[in-house]
Amino acid sequence: MAASEAASDFETVVIGAGVVGLAVAAELAEAGQNVLVVERHGTFGTETSSRNSEVIHAGIYYPPGSLRAKLCVEGRERLYAFAARYNVPVHRCGKLLVATVESEIAQLEAIEAKAAANGVPDLKRLTLDEVHRLEPDVRCVAATLSPSTGIIDGHAFMAALEARLLNAGGEIAYHSEVVGISAGSGDGFRLSISSAGDVSELSCMRLVNAAGLGASRIGRMIEYRNAGYAVPGLFPAKGHYFSLAAKAPFKHLIYPMPSPDALGVHVTLDMSGSARFGPDVYWQNDLDYAFVSADARRETFAKEIKRYWPSLPEGALMPAYTGIRPKMYAEGSTPADFEFHGVERHGVPGFVALYGIESPGLTSALAIATHVAQLLDA
Ligand SMILES: Cc1cc2nc3c(=O)[nH]c(=O)nc-3n(C[C@H](O)[C@H](O)[C@H](O)COP(=O)(O)OP(=O)(O)OC[C@H]3O[C@@H](n4cnc5c(N)ncnc54)[C@H](O)[C@@H]3O)c2cc1C
Repeated sequence: MAASEAASDFETVVIGAGVVGLAVAAELAEAGQNVLVVERHGTFGTETSSRNSEVIHAGIYYPPGSLRAKLCVEGRERLYAFAARYNVPVHRCGKLLVATVESEIAQLEAIEAKAAANGVPDLKRLTLDEVHRLEPDVRCVAATLSPSTGIIDGHAFMAALEARLLNAGGEIAYHSEVVGISAGSGDGFRLSISSAGDVSELSCMRLVNAAGLGASRIGRMIEYRNAGYAVPGLFPAKGHYFSLAAKAPFKHLIYPMPSPDALGVHVTLDMSGSARFGPDVYWQNDLDYAFVSADARRETFAKEIKRYWPSLPEGALMPAYTGIRPKMYAEGSTPADFEFHGVERHGVPGFVALYGIESPGLTSALAIATHVAQLLDA
């Protein structure tokens, strides 16, 4: 350990106790580092990590060669193995991708080709008889089964990550908001932390920005050395969910064809078998989680859902919750990949920042952790 390292309060600080920050911190602590997670809320995962679909994605939608494709495929299998080892509830229920009109079949074929290119070889095109046997209530003109898609109890996953971190000697400071950062000339970072109205300071040699919707704000606190380096902007895109006030007739997740921004208003199930529908895409300028225009939105959802489930009962959709995607691109622009900015990009040694960690960030969390650990060592 270098002299300046010994003088720091912590070897590594991770900002944010979402699923990704916890996975990164647990991996570093288990590798023997002295790690602290700082989180502004009173517990882990109260933002995007608890406002999602809790789907373990197979890795079939993302452009071949992208980080989203690679980390999703790797993260998915690691997640199933982690869940088995640490008793985290998961269900490899599989999902049906459905084309509801002939004109969508080309899109279904393109997804099948992308899946093969991403190293997901198990998609299976079904006959309509097979679809009917699996899901008698679903209407479609073509469907493909993704057997390696599943669902997970996201809270239990994060609790297991927190336990791993603490067992390995790591620490978490809740109710602690990072409000300022100064980066020295290669000898670490000083963080200003606001907690219950008091501001205190701590130092660390290495810093990970896993602040999700707060990542751009954190990124702008640092002075960079590479001329022209710019912190990505944040373009929040809310997704609304409705729950089904009736027994779900489905055993699989049902996904219509995706749009460029999102995966379509799909059926997802929780561990008790209850169904929810969503998320849609609602671009906004703030981080307000309020459910917008519930009545009009219910009509739109019902129309979308009836394309693949015509017998959706009247009045069965209940507004449930929303989540906000931390997108890095504006509405109508080309969708972005996950971004991990290390020293090569911005010139600050020991600093790694994560931007645009939207779906499939939950599925990819364990693979992201390894990727970040490698970047920190670069
Ligand atoms: C609608 C929706 C559906 C999704 N569905 C899926 C899915 O089915 N499957 C899947 O794999 N992925 C899904 N995702 C993506 C997944 O939820 C995210 O990628 C993942 O939760 C991101 O985790 P995170 O730790 O990066 O961010 P977060 O969970 O947002 O955690 C960041 C943490 O940083 C803290 N923080 C921020 N600023 C500061 C500060 N200044 N000081 C201290 N702490 C700070 C926040 O309080 C927060 O707790 C979905 C996302 C959305 C929005």
